[in-house]
Amino acid sequence: MNFFSAKVLLLILFSYNYAFANVQLIKKENSDDNTTLLVIAGIHGDEPGGYFAASILATHYNITSKNLWIVPNLNQKSILKNSRGIHGDMNRKFATLKKSDKDAETIKEIKNIILTKKVSLVLNLHDGHGFYRKENHGKIFNPNAWGQTCVIDQCNLLNQDQPFGNLNSIALDVKERMNKKLLKKHHSFNVKNTKTKFDDEAMQLSLTYFAVTNNKPAFAIESSKNLSSLSQKVFYQLLAIEEFMNIMDISFTREFKLTEKNIDNIIKNYGNISINGNFSLNLTNIKKSLSFIPLRLKSNVFEFSNPLGSVVQKRGMFIAYVGNKKILTLKPQYFEMVEKCAEEFEVIIDGNKVSLNNTSDIIVNDDFNIIKKNDYRVNVIGYSSRNHQNESGLSIKLKDLNKRFSVDKSNRVYRVEFYKNNEFCFMSKVHFK
Ligand SMILES: [Zn+2]
Repeated sequence: MNFFSAKVLLLILFSYNYAFANVQLIKKENSDDNTTLLVIAGIHGDEPGGYFAASILATHYNITSKNLWIVPNLNQKSILKNSRGIHGDMNRKFATLKKSDKDAETIKEIKNIILTKKVSLVLNLHDGHGFYRKENHGKIFNPNAWGQTCVIDQCNLLNQDQPFGNLNSIALDVKERMNKKLLKKHHSFNVKNTKTKFDDEAMQLSLTYFAVTNNKPAFAIESSKNLSSLSQKVFYQLLAIEEFMNIMDISFTREFKLTEKNIDNIIKNYGNISINGNFSLNLTNIKKSLSFIPLRLKSNVFEFSNPLGSVVQKRGMFIAYVGNKKILTLKPQYFEMVEKCAEEFEVIIDGNKVSLNNTSDIIVNDDFNIIKKNDYRVNVIGYSSRNHQNESGLSIKLKDLNKRFSVDKSNRVYRVEFYKNNEFCFMSKVHFK
């Protein structure tokens, strides 16, 4: 088995997506043990260090013993707006809440997930202000800062027998392990005990306090908003989560070395969007806007490989986001869709005739020629031929294509669309090396 197929297989075995009405839950499970770490990110929509870390955890980690559950974008609508909370602070809604509150359903779902019997420990990811220090060293480094801390509500759970109930000693252990791996000395981690029950009324309304009062060990991880890059924030979040997995004896592998540079590359790889199952687009290096995209008038289905992907419809456009990053605007052209299309098409690539699955890419050095197929009309977007309605049977080179119509910023990828009568069937893309 080569490396790639091993990876695909693991994803199929261990990644299950549970879409509740409001909350996305990704489960990576093994059958050897019920011990489960639940990682929750994005409760505050303007703290991307947490939710990009959770997304990488979902896509780039394999869990080889015990279980990891991930909620990568709890407050998804606020993430899109890069707002702490478009309906107020979601992390102050866990004690009591009016039924009419716009977050009520989300809160109900996440509470049920936290209380699931199998969940052994809960992490709530944040990016906090400054760098926490026990003494005051100015605006950024002081006791009121939250950044670079592992936050606990109290030293121990009430039930002494609860596994991982010794919150303070676990937090101290995580802090010590992390401080051996810092990128810069002043990034040092600390434990912050809010002594919620006695000292902190606001925190009594929080997710972690809800968890600990229900006998679930819970911690908040705060990277610092004052770190110099998103990848640094994600680095510390992943480092903290890995140390929790080590303490819980959850084994994992990842396909990259944990460095700031590698994390930066992974974040910039936005993955794919598949649309209605009849075409897909690679969102990395894609143009900001694409026109005349064949969509249905209603009920289009958008599927992202990135858990932070979502589509917002606005003024007749479809806008694709990954987290808080606006990636692509699609200007639609509405079509009826052919119900049953051919599953393959034939094409001559650089002189060799091959058969391809209908939505796979045509990778070309020099030229390609879609072989004529009965009933199908081919439209190569960016190729203008006054004499042809159907652009199959023509040898086409990169220089024949108008860059204005390329899909990617490097002007090397173009759309090849198949129609039957006037209905849309599927889209391949030609990719010049
Ligand atoms: Zn926060």
